[in-house]
Amino acid sequence: MRILVTNDDGVYAPGMWTLVEALAPLGEIVVVAPDREQSGVGTSVTLHHPVRASAVSPQIPGIETYAVEGTPSDSIILALRTLAGHVDMVYSGINEGANLGNDALISGTVGAALQGYFHGLPSIALSVGSLEVSDFTVAARLGLLLGDMIRTDLLPRQVLLNVNVPNKPLEEIEGLEVTRLGRRSYVDIIDEGHDGKRKYYWIVRGKPTWDVVPGTDIWAMRNGRASITPLCDDLTSQDQLSLLEEQRGSLMDGLRQAAIERSVRN
Ligand code: MN
Repeated sequence: MRILVTNDDGVYAPGMWTLVEALAPLGEIVVVAPDREQSGVGTSVTLHHPVRASAVSPQIPGIETYAVEGTPSDSIILALRTLAGHVDMVYSGINEGANLGNDALISGTVGAALQGYFHGLPSIALSVGSLEVSDFTVAARLGLLLGDMIRTDLLPRQVLLNVNVPNKPLEEIEGLEVTRLGRRSYVDIIDEGHDGKRKYYWIVRGKPTWDVVPGTDIWAMRNGRASITPLCDDLTSQDQLSLLEEQRGSLMDGLRQAAIERSVRN
């Protein structure tokens, strides 16, 4: 197996290299990651200027490693299209900081895994719930175990997993839960200032509001447990399909009415 590893904390982040070390039994590893921290960029892809990549020396000898002047998603696209050749599986992380609930949509860590999934590859995002992580080893081992289950067809190839692990040694972790995404929202604070020439706005993330519901990833991590959430790429709201369908005729009538009014005016 050939495994692509990326992250959003930058190519020298210790969490990624702990993961690379742990994944060695799974196969050959190639690292393609942003040259600097890119947390919070979600699935962003660079389209308005060229993206450069260069081979850099790995933190672990013998691992083919590239630094990309771009986002985590750029790294995956470059890797899969040209730098890494054939790849069987994608890992993103291990991120410093949990990626829970709605944050999955802005997370660069999950964004990169989503990009791998879009390309038809099994993809795993891994995060540890602390901004100053002291222990990546449980998350790294869980990553290896999940990858091995995919390799041996215990899990499907068409899989996108968001994994979060408490920042603790295994003895202190309360358990492992399979979860759905919870709801966690930030109140963004706008910091206004003046740089001498122009006014600026600085978007500051306020304290998140947690919706701690049993069965969710947020609940699991709040209770000191590791969490695995299987994701898919369907954002469709199933319960609102029929509500909108009921309004479809009125919307069409409204459009026709506007066209009639315009032709009368002309
Ligand atoms: Mn990050």
